[in-house]
Amino acid sequence: MSLMQHVLPRHLEIIFRINQEFLDFAAAQRPGDHGFLARLSLIEENGERRVRMAHLSIVGSHKVNGVSALHSDLLVKTIFADFAALWPERFTNMTNGVTPRRWLAQANPGLAALLDRTLGTKWRLDLDQLQGLRDLRGNAAFRDEFMAIKRANKARLAEHIARTTGIAVDPASLFDVQVKRIHEYKRQLLNVLHVVARYQAILAHPNAGWVPRTVIFAGKAASSYAAAKNIIRLIHDVGSVINRDPRVAGLLKLVFVPNYGVSVAEVIMPGADLSEQISTAGTEASGTGNMKLALNGALTIGTDDGANIEIRQHVGDDNIFIFGLKTPEVLAMRASGYQPMRWYEGNPQLKNVLDAIAGGSFSPDEPGRYRGLVDSLLWGGDHYLLLADFASYVETQLRVDALFRQSGEWASKAIANVAGMGAFSSDRTIREYAQQIWGMTPAP
Ligand SMILES: *Cc1c(COP(=O)(O)O)cnc(C)c1O
Repeated sequence: MSLMQHVLPRHLEIIFRINQEFLDFAAAQRPGDHGFLARLSLIEENGERRVRMAHLSIVGSHKVNGVSALHSDLLVKTIFADFAALWPERFTNMTNGVTPRRWLAQANPGLAALLDRTLGTKWRLDLDQLQGLRDLRGNAAFRDEFMAIKRANKARLAEHIARTTGIAVDPASLFDVQVKRIHEYKRQLLNVLHVVARYQAILAHPNAGWVPRTVIFAGKAASSYAAAKNIIRLIHDVGSVINRDPRVAGLLKLVFVPNYGVSVAEVIMPGADLSEQISTAGTEASGTGNMKLALNGALTIGTDDGANIEIRQHVGDDNIFIFGLKTPEVLAMRASGYQPMRWYEGNPQLKNVLDAIAGGSFSPDEPGRYRGLVDSLLWGGDHYLLLADFASYVETQLRVDALFRQSGEWASKAIANVAGMGAFSSDRTIREYAQQIWGMTPAP
């Protein structure tokens, strides 16, 4: 507020007036309930006085939309419960979607042509028609065609990786993809912990019949987000050790594709086998990368979060890998005093991974480089509960391997994913906005 007072004094005056009128209205609804008014106020009065921008937005809005069923539910039950009590009809849910023109027709011309031959061309404007693929899951000839297209898209992605990073990756390996902004809540670091665990396990048991994997990251960090940039650096450091180690050659590669944006995404999405959607439950409002990847035939390994929950409902429980704590469990664990050190001490595999990173195994030129990062997990509270979800994640990754070995079963589930994604067209989302928010009907 001191900043606004200095830079935008007139705006602040107007905000005070809006707040006065709003709180007068709220007081009339619940006379004498001062706690209610303090929670609703546009001004935070505890500690340094602040303007609550989200509260101002709700007061000024006709509708307030949540972008997935879980997100909408959390908004009205947790952070905006008092506003929902005041204006229940103001809060809506319209789950996000992605456009099938960019994310299928343009990005994946091979699959688009197969769909045209199989279903006709109407899916571009009516994505629910993808359901027609469901009956073809068991058709061996269709599976082969579908997987040949996936293989060609993986070869195209491998060329992009070679051109931009200089690293050769094998399109026959499982392409395990996490592409999104780099953020602690999205838990790219949990993915790295799994990669290091896998590296150590391959070294310990070289003849265990490992499924060859290429782990692919891409994403940008906000310019001032030092912790996110440190994770990008760790991915590069772990990659440079693993990619040069002849003992894991042909079994594990780790690459970071530079300059993530929609054009790079159009090359990555069609070439993915596995889609990593591993945010701490309750933190990802929806996600749309999850939709793009499933639409292109990737299987999801993910938490019970955001639109993953609805993707699971649409593609079927058997065609997705869900792991880890659920939102109420996350809230309960934090409330009961989460102790990351207990998980470290209780899981030798996790301990070995964190000790290797903290001890400089991936930064031999500067052994202490990641001590602080590991300390932020062990001693800094591990706010996003990586250590609590680690064992479940690693165990689920082994189930991914087992399925990938059964190539026909994998193909069937990949096809089921495409078949189930009709509901995630942005055409459906926009239709809902037009009807429920703006009260419009389509022009003929
Ligand atoms: C779809 C997309 C996103 C959103 O990805 P999430 O995994 O949902 O966070 C971000 N950046 C680009 C370039 C995208 O195409």
